[in-house]
Amino acid sequence: MSDAPAIAPAPALSKNELLKQRDPTLAGDIAATLANAEAVRFSDDDEQFIKFHGFYQQDDRDKRKTGKEYIFMVRNRLPGGVVTPEQYLVFDDLATRYGNNTLRLTSRQAFQWHGVVKKGLGPLLKAINDSLSTTLAACGDVARNVMAPSTPATSALVDEVLADSALVSRELLPRATSYHQIWVDGNEIDLGNRQPAEDPLYGRTYLPRKFKTAFAIPPLNDVDIFTNCLGFVAIADPANPARVLGYNLLAGGGMGMSHGNKETYPRVADVLGFFPRARLVDVAKAVLMAYRDFGDRTNRKHARLKYVLEEKGAAWFREQVEQRAGFRLEPAAPMHFTKQGDTFGWHRQTDGRWFLGLYVETGRVKDTATRQLKTALRRIVEKHRVEVRLTPSQNLILANVPEAVRDDITALLAEHGIPVENQTSVVRRASMACPSMPTCGLGLAESERAIPGVLDDLERELAALGLSDEEIIVRMTGCPNGCVRPYMAEIGFVGRAPNKYNVYFGGDGASLALNREYRASVKREDLMKEIAPVLRRWRDERLPGERFGPFTARVVFPEIDAAAAATPAPTH
Ligand code: SF4
Repeated sequence: MSDAPAIAPAPALSKNELLKQRDPTLAGDIAATLANAEAVRFSDDDEQFIKFHGFYQQDDRDKRKTGKEYIFMVRNRLPGGVVTPEQYLVFDDLATRYGNNTLRLTSRQAFQWHGVVKKGLGPLLKAINDSLSTTLAACGDVARNVMAPSTPATSALVDEVLADSALVSRELLPRATSYHQIWVDGNEIDLGNRQPAEDPLYGRTYLPRKFKTAFAIPPLNDVDIFTNCLGFVAIADPANPARVLGYNLLAGGGMGMSHGNKETYPRVADVLGFFPRARLVDVAKAVLMAYRDFGDRTNRKHARLKYVLEEKGAAWFREQVEQRAGFRLEPAAPMHFTKQGDTFGWHRQTDGRWFLGLYVETGRVKDTATRQLKTALRRIVEKHRVEVRLTPSQNLILANVPEAVRDDITALLAEHGIPVENQTSVVRRASMACPSMPTCGLGLAESERAIPGVLDDLERELAALGLSDEEIIVRMTGCPNGCVRPYMAEIGFVGRAPNKYNVYFGGDGASLALNREYRASVKREDLMKEIAPVLRRWRDERLPGERFGPFTARVVFPEIDAAAAATPAPTH
């Protein structure tokens, strides 16, 4: 018998890894399925490849009882959420022609078209590309849309940071040519040419999972910078405060988790150091490559970069980044975030023009009987050619508006039922919800369709307590994947099962801290029974100026922990 120690077999790669290995062109059989008019859906394997092309295969869950009806959700990339007037008009038109006549603003500053049928995919993706946007790598195991603060006048650094976000977005795009062949050029895919493809940055198998990047400019943390895999915090040049000197590098944030799986958890990013602006692309690529090399490819639930940082440590990861970037990071520069969220109403830009922040309920641009936001925006952009910017909280900005047209825009909005002042309650405008039902296949509970009613209830409670002017950040998701970052909210609702939510309290006004589960599996109709007593205590016991989230962290959870510690452990 040999004395050699037994070598444990290497854990098996996940199915997605084998798929990527087999076809690094990412072409799958997408083109053949598109060409086959009889095919109503893409195969299970191609369901993974189409994500890299920027869309998901879904079905209308409201109609499942009468049989599956396949539809698609298409997402684009828009670094910093900046949209030209020409692009906006195209995107609006595409929603009417090929989607469900709504445009959805995502929590990562992009557009989603919902309810697209298979034969609409080709013209929709082609038109998005023709407008000089893209859907390539809007989903999939790649670097996704790059977020950046885009509200004019919030900082002198906005334009430079927006330019940097566009640069990083471009540099981190995969080079897979199948995307352009299928959607832009309409060429046949050469099946024999799949093997040699190797992306210069991503290699053969891309990343273990999605990879999210954002830029922030202190003191505003509108992008929730600590929730990103890769974060860049702009540091102004002391000699010229209108220029970016460099960036503090953050890595290892992330939101998603799975119910009942303690190995999965949301995490805030570590601050790794500072580097000069000229090294931005080197650093972005170095972090991506370190993730590519060390992320878990055997278990997709454990594959995000945050687990690498948590398990190997920030110092170790910094070394990996430095090796790949070819230089050493400096100690992080001082940075201080004091707030998150959007700016609403008219505000003057530093160049004398104006911008208008518009609240968009659950990020859905649509027409209803009382508010015709979709029509109003189309008319305004058609008439005045103003730039549109999407915010990280699913709202919208009309930017660079000349003084001369300001009043006309206000009047056009009013004509369609949309005020520019007092647009909605303080608590509602600080809220977000993911789509969930009926389109997202992962949704366990309603989200977008439930939050308006939940906010009605919350507004009533706050009014009864005399707290209507107090902002509380409220976010709801239909499942624990956390697409609207519910674990940073002061009140987070995370779908657990149909009509049931886990309730989270905590967080703060600047999105610096995670919240904590307060109650599990609360029925929708019982939510206020759990929340109202804590709101009352907050009103009565808070410190001057103390927000709801920090109050719960200071008072409520320590009491819960003390009670748990005082409870004798069960004996057997
Ligand atoms: Fe779907 Fe879950 Fe994301 Fe909501 S949080 S959109 S339910 S994956």
